[in-house]
Amino acid sequence: MLLGQAWWRRRRAAGARLRMSALEVDVLVAGLGPAGSRAAWAAARAGVRVLAIDRRRRIGEPVQCAELVPALLRQEVDGLAGAVTQTIEAMHTHLETEPPEVTAHFPGAMIERTVFDAALARAACEAGARCRTGVALAAVEADGAARLSDGSTVSARVIIGADGPHSRVGRSVGRLNSPLTHAQQITVPLDRAHGATDIFLSRAMPGGYGWLFPKGDVAHVGAGVAYSERRRLPALVADLHARLVREGRVGTRVLRRTGGAIPAGGPLDPVAYRAGALVLLAGDAAGLANPVTGAGIAAAVQSGTLAGAAAVAWMAGADDALERFREEVETLYGPALARAAARRRALLACYRGDAPVPRAAQRAGWIAYPEYWAA
Ligand SMILES: Cc1cc2nc3c(=O)[nH]c(=O)nc-3n(C[C@H](O)[C@H](O)[C@H](O)COP(=O)(O)OP(=O)(O)OC[C@H]3O[C@@H](n4cnc5c(N)ncnc54)[C@H](O)[C@@H]3O)c2cc1C
Repeated sequence: MLLGQAWWRRRRAAGARLRMSALEVDVLVAGLGPAGSRAAWAAARAGVRVLAIDRRRRIGEPVQCAELVPALLRQEVDGLAGAVTQTIEAMHTHLETEPPEVTAHFPGAMIERTVFDAALARAACEAGARCRTGVALAAVEADGAARLSDGSTVSARVIIGADGPHSRVGRSVGRLNSPLTHAQQITVPLDRAHGATDIFLSRAMPGGYGWLFPKGDVAHVGAGVAYSERRRLPALVADLHARLVREGRVGTRVLRRTGGAIPAGGPLDPVAYRAGALVLLAGDAAGLANPVTGAGIAAAVQSGTLAGAAAVAWMAGADDALERFREEVETLYGPALARAAARRRALLACYRGDAPVPRAAQRAGWIAYPEYWAA
C-alpha cells in the first residue's frame, strides 16, 4: 500500500483536529528564496497542489547577499536565470598585511539576486504552484496545520521550510541554526574593473572575514563575524572601506547597505514531523550555508529541488523517499560542511584575550590554503 496515502487517509479520519476553514494543499512551501522557489517548482511540475508563500512583498527584495555563486551552478539553473552581471576568475586572499595569496582558478559569477530570485519564483508559478507574497507563515501548530499572517490556516501533507536562517518551520520541529555568523555589507563605486574576489582574513574578524566582490562598476564590501562580535561590524566595514579607498580601488560614496545572518553550524536533519504533517527543510533553514565562506545559494537551489522531489515521491508512496532525501543532502554537503564547521570552531578556539592568533591557525581556517584541506 502507498504509505503516504494510507497515512493521509488516517489523518483525514481523525480530522476533528483539522480546522474546518483550512485551505487544503499537498505541499506548502514557506519562503520563496532560491530554496523555496526550487522546491515549489519541483513539486508543482509533478502535478501536485502547491501553495508557496513569502513574507516579502517583492521576491528577493531587499537583497541580503554578496551575490557570488560558483560557476557550476549553471548546471542547475540554465544561464543562471539571466542574472549574471560579471564573471569571476580568481580569488585573492589577504591574510593580515601579507601580500595576497592568488587562487588563479576560482570560477564564479556575480548575479543580480533580485533577478535570480524572481526568475526562480516565476518558474515555480509557471509550473503550477500558487504563489503568494506579503504573507508569512506565523506558526506550524501542534496539530500540523500552518497558520498564516493573514489569519488563514493551511492544511498540507508536506510543509517545506525554506524560510531562511531563522526558519519558523525549523523552529516548530526543534531544528534551529546555531551558531550564526552575522554580516554587514555596503555597495560602493568600483574604480577599476576587477575579475577576482578579495578576501580579508584578520584577527579583528573572529568567526568570519572581510570581502570585496566586484560587480561591474560597483563592488560589495563587507564583513562577517561570530554572532557575539556583531556590534563590531559597522566599524569593521568602515575600516575595510577606508583601506580600499586609500588603495584607490573604490569610491567613498555608499550606495547601499545590507546585512543578515548566515547559518554556521552545519547541516540540520532535514526531515521531521509535526503531528500529522511531514516537514522537510531546505537551504539556510536546513543549515546548508558553508560555515567558513558563508556561501549558501547553490546549496539552497539544489536542496530545494531535492525537497520538492522528495515530497512528491513520498506522497506517491515511495517508502524510501525520505531516507533518500536525507542521504542525498548528506552526500552533497555533509563532508564539506562538517569540515568547514570544524575549521571555524578550531580557529575561534585560538582567540584568547588579546593574544595573537597563530598564522597557521588562520591558514587552516580558509579555503585558499592547502592547510584547510589537510586531513
Ligand atoms: C550579507 C550576506 C551575504 C551573503 N553572500 C552570499 C554570497 O555571496 N554567495 C552565496 O552563495 N551566499 C551568500 N549568502 C548566503 C545566501 O544569501 C543564503 O545562503 C541563501 O539566500 C539561502 O537561500 P534560502 O532560499 O535558503 O533562504 P533565503 O534566501 O533567506 O530565502 C528565505 C525566504 O523566506 C522568506 N521568509 C522568511 N521567514 C518567512 C516566514 N515566516 N513566512 C514566509 N516567508 C518567510 C524570506 O522573506 C525569504 O524570501 C549571504 C548571506 C548574507 C546575509
